[in-house]
Amino acid sequence: MSKEKLTRREFLKFSTASLVSTGLNILPIRSLVEPFSAKENLNYPVSAKSITYWQYDGGHKYQSGETTMTPALFKAQMDYLGQRGYHTVSDNQLAEFIEGDMNLPYNTVALGIKLNQGKSSYDKEQLLEMMSSLSENKLHAILFIDPDQIGSTPGVVGWGDLAKWYNSGLISLGAFGFDEKNLSDLDFSQRYQEVRRLKRTIEERMANAKVANLKVLGLASSKESNRHLVFARKAGYRFALGGNIKAKGNEVRDNLVIFDRFNLPTLAPYSTKATLRKMGYSSQNNPMLTPLISEVDDKRTFGEIISHYQTPVYSHQLNQAQEVKMGDKIEEPREGLGRKLFQDGLVIVHTTGRKDDNPWSWMSETAYKSLGRKAVHFTVGHDGVVQLSPIYKDRYGKVWFPMIEHGGAWGVNEWGVSIELAGSNYDKYLNRKKSEHYEVIRRITDNATNLIVDLMKLTGWDIDRVVGHLEVSFRGKSDPGVKYIDYLRSKLVQNLTG
Ligand SMILES: [Zn+2]
Repeated sequence: MSKEKLTRREFLKFSTASLVSTGLNILPIRSLVEPFSAKENLNYPVSAKSITYWQYDGGHKYQSGETTMTPALFKAQMDYLGQRGYHTVSDNQLAEFIEGDMNLPYNTVALGIKLNQGKSSYDKEQLLEMMSSLSENKLHAILFIDPDQIGSTPGVVGWGDLAKWYNSGLISLGAFGFDEKNLSDLDFSQRYQEVRRLKRTIEERMANAKVANLKVLGLASSKESNRHLVFARKAGYRFALGGNIKAKGNEVRDNLVIFDRFNLPTLAPYSTKATLRKMGYSSQNNPMLTPLISEVDDKRTFGEIISHYQTPVYSHQLNQAQEVKMGDKIEEPREGLGRKLFQDGLVIVHTTGRKDDNPWSWMSETAYKSLGRKAVHFTVGHDGVVQLSPIYKDRYGKVWFPMIEHGGAWGVNEWGVSIELAGSNYDKYLNRKKSEHYEVIRRITDNATNLIVDLMKLTGWDIDRVVGHLEVSFRGKSDPGVKYIDYLRSKLVQNLTG
């Protein structure tokens, strides 16, 4: 049974049915973490070397302190991964990757959920919500537990729940050891005894679910060197997952290409309460598109972090790619257009925002010249479309666009095809049907509609991928206009259905 062909209803039926077969055969029920197909691997050389890594902390930080992780934010992040076709890996796949025995597709995320000390982390309702976010998106997480907490009091997750989730392929299990502080309080033998006890207890309690060999130890910190973690290896763990790394620089990528690294660092995609409040103030924002992360600072979105720590793919690595031409005129790529490519995203519509009383100057060329250092993929004027970016179609039929490095759509540039429409104040002129401005906007809209329909046909993206900048901006952008973006989408629907 292929996971692509599984509808949600089928999946739920399937995962329930799998409970019956517990103890008979674990093979069919691990369908969420099937081996990767050749197409998924894409045969791009870099795909073997690196992995995106991050951690969700369902623990005591949940709704407390300045950083926060709400069920809605977690769901938004899982939806992001699911909708963009990210792969998640099991404990075993990750172990094989680290040990150099397995290649992973470039868009792989190893998802860890560490349950901290304290009952609140083990709240069954909360975990059920998280499990449904995973299953809706066909994702898999490594759930790190302290066996002493399981089933300890009413309302807390039990061994039966874990077996069910494990058997339906939603989770692998890891042991969550100790934090940095109490690790240093123990000597080698005590550490060894403790992590071996955790491993054995989980294996015993999960024996019916065939958790035969627990592979992962969760650590609060990734600062421990491999040498210091001999006790964990001796206890039989294949690798450890450390704590949060700051979401800057290349630390994760660099560490993960070293195959003998035992203690992997993780990203922690929290947000701050202040950020979520800011997003809440603007009804124009769509948190599904821009779930913000900012334990580090207020400047990175989930999308940015994921694309930053994803193995990059460059045009020369695409297999037998063809270039696709779409504009009336092709210009050299601008400097703000990166060399990294993305292949799944949004169409983001802007207006240049220059005040100009003469609408007949709203041309593709002037829009292009007004960009400054910012890059976009296309500019559109009443005269036509300028293509400012190469577009590639690989031999698997996947379409790739260069990521924008200096661009207008903060937080979504990395996976957006940006289209800049010449002119400004579209909303104002939309009601003045006799004005020259209206006539020019109508012509620009015709050109934009044809371009976007061609893009949708090329990529297979749905109309809900077409958004106005204002709909994906958390800093309160207003282009191309609240009314205008709906007007444009109505023209797209007409074109697609007519
Ligand atoms: Zn804009």
